[in-house]
Amino acid sequence: MDFQEAARRVETLREQIKEYSRLYYEEDSPAVEDDEFDALTRELRRLEEEYPQLVTPDSYTQRVQGAASALFAPVQHVVPLESLQDVFSFEELREFDRRVRETVEDPVYVVEPKIDGLSIALEYVDGRFVQGATRGDGQVGEDVSHNLRTIRTIPEKLTRPVPRIIVRGEVYMPRESFAALVERQELAGEKPFKNPRNAAAGSLRQKDAAVTKGRNLDIFVFNLQLLEGEEVSSHAESLEYMKELGFHIIPFYSVVASVEEVIREVERIGEKRRSLSFDIDGAVVKVNSFSQRARLGSTAKFPKWASAYKYPPEEKQTTLLGVEINVGRTGVLTPTGIFEPVTLAGTTVSRATLHNEDFILEKGLAIGDTVALRKAGDIIPEVVRVVSHLPGAEPYQMPHVCPSCGSEAVREEEEAALRCNNPECPAQRIRNLIHFASRDAMDIEGLGPAVVEQLAAAELVRNAYDLYSLKKEDIAALERMGEKSAENLLAAIEKSKSADLFRVIFALGIRHVGQKAAKLLANRFGSMEAVMNATAEQISDIDGFGGVMAESVVQFFALPQSRHFVEQLRLAGVNMERQGAQPGGEDASADARFAGMTFVLTGTLPTLKRDEAAAIIERFGGKTSGSVSKKTSVVLAGEEAGSKLTKAQQLGIRVINEEEFRAMLK
Ligand code: NAD
Repeated sequence: MDFQEAARRVETLREQIKEYSRLYYEEDSPAVEDDEFDALTRELRRLEEEYPQLVTPDSYTQRVQGAASALFAPVQHVVPLESLQDVFSFEELREFDRRVRETVEDPVYVVEPKIDGLSIALEYVDGRFVQGATRGDGQVGEDVSHNLRTIRTIPEKLTRPVPRIIVRGEVYMPRESFAALVERQELAGEKPFKNPRNAAAGSLRQKDAAVTKGRNLDIFVFNLQLLEGEEVSSHAESLEYMKELGFHIIPFYSVVASVEEVIREVERIGEKRRSLSFDIDGAVVKVNSFSQRARLGSTAKFPKWASAYKYPPEEKQTTLLGVEINVGRTGVLTPTGIFEPVTLAGTTVSRATLHNEDFILEKGLAIGDTVALRKAGDIIPEVVRVVSHLPGAEPYQMPHVCPSCGSEAVREEEEAALRCNNPECPAQRIRNLIHFASRDAMDIEGLGPAVVEQLAAAELVRNAYDLYSLKKEDIAALERMGEKSAENLLAAIEKSKSADLFRVIFALGIRHVGQKAAKLLANRFGSMEAVMNATAEQISDIDGFGGVMAESVVQFFALPQSRHFVEQLRLAGVNMERQGAQPGGEDASADARFAGMTFVLTGTLPTLKRDEAAAIIERFGGKTSGSVSKKTSVVLAGEEAGSKLTKAQQLGIRVINEEEFRAMLK
């Protein structure tokens, strides 16, 4: 790679890393797995090593990531909260040892588990807890004292009135509490946290301490940041000292004198990893002596006396027993691998998606193969590679007929998917019905996948329009359905007849036409009739509509069965006209009071759901955006608003609450 290419790549990497870090540290909602993220930072580090001219002071490699949110009072850290240099191989640990030995003699090391939570500094004066703060950017953190006080294992009073002490620890959520929290969140229809680390961060960075209290957080203290009035000279000594004072210190650490022993300890911790009640993502190796640490010093980002070894995600070998093919709403055939069950990251895994034909061919996957499985983010099982084939094994061939209806399945040019194009295909019908009734489409409450399957199995419904002639007795006769549920379902179906036009368009399930495109169509053409008769040119003239989408709409309505379907809906009494400009469409409504304005919504509003607020804004000609920039006109913020609010405050953008928003609508 030449310099120019490297410079371009570095820029791309930095942008990606910046965005992923923002989501991870500020929103507590990572977009990618840690090992994927780590691969990007490693690539950046390698390029910067090769081309030192490309290093900038604000590069990820040079600075602690994260930022303090304005929701909490800022706390200037007396001793910065540094990050750690990650390593991914034992060879890199040996290199670390060689570097240490260039500066100090006979180092002794402490090896500890690296707890996957968030870093906290706790300050005590005269033995009393006075303040606790998050890491933030390492220099300035967030004051979360009120929340830390809810953690049982953080002492309010130490066993001795030490004049002043600051300790650093990792607040984490035990696995069991995490599982219970996710279950609660799912039941309540909230977006669950992705992993215990994000759950811990999200739970601690709350305005309301009662929320934190209910989250069952815990802490392990792993560093003495500052001590006045007493003295200790090594890390191991400081751990025992802090324990005596009443802190919950890092468990099963060990003190060793050679790098080979360090490696053995790292392996030992790695073996324990899955059986612990909390998540660890590595092991930390630290020089024990404080005077040696002082001689080794720090970079702007991390101490030169420590190194963090990151464990690779757990892999297990198993056998591919078979492949199951499912047919999606648009007729796509998706292969799922069925495996000899194995326990992976705590659960039994026997299925994993094989994505598509190319994935299978690339890996040369054959039934009977031994494969390595892992869980992405400890959650989603995936095939990493084939370990061995049976003699004479041939890669699995995707069927070229639909397993549901037997029609030919074809693979279009430039597509990875095989597709069944039979509009009468029963598997697709069911998927289409599910889509038709879904929340973003006709929003028929009580008509979820299970009920759709029941209705289809009882041959009560073949096409969506059959829903409108369902009878109460038929529904009530279904298993787990009583009179009352049947009545409710019929009422919900009846209500859907007056759904907005864009919902009806979206519910048709036209390929490439999402809800937003459906709104654009509804606004531009005003009636189903006009949409059906529009030309590709007219459609692609709409701002925000691509040529492929336009073509797809025209092709859909060119099919007699599509027109028949719409006609049946019309006869059933489903609305086919636009009743007002739809939110998200470019056509302004008569009252365009928000024209030219861009709103950003953040946090939970007291009464309005976010999509409802967005719909109102768009109905009055305004736009909504997902991120705050100089172009933002107003930020509508609710409870637990995060980094968007901070950014708005930094940029001096007007921030309003729901009440003020409602006043704007009067
Ligand atoms: P880090 O988390 O790798 O290491 C530093 C942290 O380790 C310290 O802040 C400390 O709190 C913690 N720690 C736990 N136990 C410790 C112990 N015994 N001794 C010392 N420290 C201990 O470094 P970082 O710079 O905060 O973050 C990088 C990490 O965050 C990487 O693991 C990366 O994968 C992840 N990340 C992921 C994404 C994503 O999108 N998935 C984005 C950003 C960062």
